Amino acid sequence: MAARRAGPNSVKLNRTYDVAELAARLGVHKNTVRHWQRDGLKPLDSGRPVLFHGATVRAFLSSRSASRKSPCPPGTLYCFKCRSPRSPALGMVDYIPINATGGNVRAICAACETVMHRRAAKASLATILPGCDVQIAQAPPRLKGSPSPSLNCDLERQATI
Ligand SMILES: [Zn+2]
Repeated sequence: MAARRAGPNSVKLNRTYDVAELAARLGVHKNTVRHWQRDGLKPLDSGRPVLFHGATVRAFLSSRSASRKSPCPPGTLYCFKCRSPRSPALGMVDYIPINATGGNVRAICAACETVMHRRAAKASLATILPGCDVQIAQAPPRLKGSPSPSLNCDLERQATI
């Protein structure tokens, strides 16, 4: 896991920051700041170096974390490509147990066919994915990884496109 990031409140409202300053202030990589800019973080103006106003940065980050925290409605998983909760294609879901009570849910996005993942307690499957056809994958007792490596590779490749 990444080191704990400083919260948006470490950005001063009445200051402007260039990309490097903002990255240092928030403990993120400069590329992360550039991603934010592409995702809608507005710079002060079109001048160089690119400067961001502290208040704008805070508003951007808090709206982002709010949308990130929003739980997926029942019957959906979060699709990182669509950036929204999506229904599994054909209502088909794989559940891969990690331990006795919890595991990963995997499904294909009905909209863009990206593989979606979601952590779930086994007991909650019927609640979070009502009406879905949940296939419980058998966890191999000693081997690490998937019981069907070739299928897994295909899915991984799709996930990174
Ligand atoms: Zn999608």
